[in-house]
Amino acid sequence: MNFISTHGNTPPTSIDSALVAGLAPDGGLYVPERIPALADMRPRATLADTAYAVLAPYFAVSSLRDHLTDICAQAFSFDAPLRPLAGEGDHLLELFYGPTAAFKDYAARFLAGALAALRVPEAPTTTILVATSGDTGAAVAAAFHRRPGFEVVILYPDGRVSPRQAHGLECWGDNVRTFRVAGSFDDCQRLAKQALADEALRRARALTSANSISLGRLLPQAAYYAHAALRFRAEHGVALNLIVPTGNLGNACAALLARRMGLPIGDIRLATNANDVLPRYFAGGGYAPQPTRATLANAMDVGAPSNFERLRQWHDNDDGALRAAVRADAVDDATIRDIIHAAPVRHGIVPCPHTATGLHLLERLRAQGDTRPWAVVATAHPAKFETIVEPLVGHAVVPPRALADCLRRPASAHALANDYGALHRRLQAENR
Ligand SMILES: *Cc1c(COP(=O)(O)O)cnc(C)c1O
Repeated sequence: MNFISTHGNTPPTSIDSALVAGLAPDGGLYVPERIPALADMRPRATLADTAYAVLAPYFAVSSLRDHLTDICAQAFSFDAPLRPLAGEGDHLLELFYGPTAAFKDYAARFLAGALAALRVPEAPTTTILVATSGDTGAAVAAAFHRRPGFEVVILYPDGRVSPRQAHGLECWGDNVRTFRVAGSFDDCQRLAKQALADEALRRARALTSANSISLGRLLPQAAYYAHAALRFRAEHGVALNLIVPTGNLGNACAALLARRMGLPIGDIRLATNANDVLPRYFAGGGYAPQPTRATLANAMDVGAPSNFERLRQWHDNDDGALRAAVRADAVDDATIRDIIHAAPVRHGIVPCPHTATGLHLLERLRAQGDTRPWAVVATAHPAKFETIVEPLVGHAVVPPRALADCLRRPASAHALANDYGALHRRLQAENR
């Protein structure tokens, strides 16, 4: 299996080089040349087994082939349970039992395992530079923490993440360095892009990113959808419909990929926060990126969803076909607050602000008389957003064990001016 670029100007390449490269040389995103079919796949005992079965076709020609079982076992070592909610047919797909209590842990750990296995022992240390709005940086830091041959540099917008998100970004040490930038997430992203495009810097050190455009962050996410849907069909005889809280479209693309592989997934609905580029597009408007707006669901504060190109390419760049395949709705902050406040009584759970956008879509579908089984994807644990969630539900929310472990570690970050010169000096100073 080869991988091609959404821009079409890169020769087909192996999964190994696509993983190492991240972005294709022509500036496009890598996608599989064809999508393998797993229509007759049977449910597997564990999430790791399912992950292996789903990912194996993509790694059929790869030096990672013989490592894939181990990489999946390590990345998918915590469960992704499908929990029934209070309402008939309502479910929550809980993806928050990893070290940083968000779904990004699965794929970040997969990518780390894959890059570690691809690494040549005597190669210079690879610096992974991540701009984060809160969750990505923590997941990448946790995944690469203490891995020989790698160091992680995190840039996050000072004061714009929750206190526990900040802790999750700052509690690693060793080969992880965290900078709180005096600026917005967009500023952090601009600084990271500038460094990644800095030829002189790249000559001096092996620099790469680990953002959600990497195939290593995208493909593994199909595993938990496959696992949940296969088990659901075995038990109930029907496909599971999915509501995915969405920002950069990484998790949503994985759900679509799983469905296109023939796994028993029915409808897919996307929930965004007030950043409504996708809802406008799916309602028939053009695709018009906007400046990012800050919302309560900060990990979804995206004005130009980076995986949109993949979604379009999978539908032959035909807007009509794409609009027929998925739909998206925006949920504003006032509604997010209402949903969090009402969820313990209505659904029997406390949701994080991101998950709340999905719950709102579920409520709308039920109000319209939809009786199909739906799973809302719970993208993070509510304890990670305690300053928003706790006042709304009126009690403390206990962190899951892995997050509690991380919160017990000491945390520290370096302040960084919103200025490329400052970042460049820090990266140079720490050169080995
Ligand atoms: C990253 C993130 C999202 C958005 O996921 P995308 O793959 O960017 O669409 C939603 N919720 C949480 C908690 C996240 O961390």
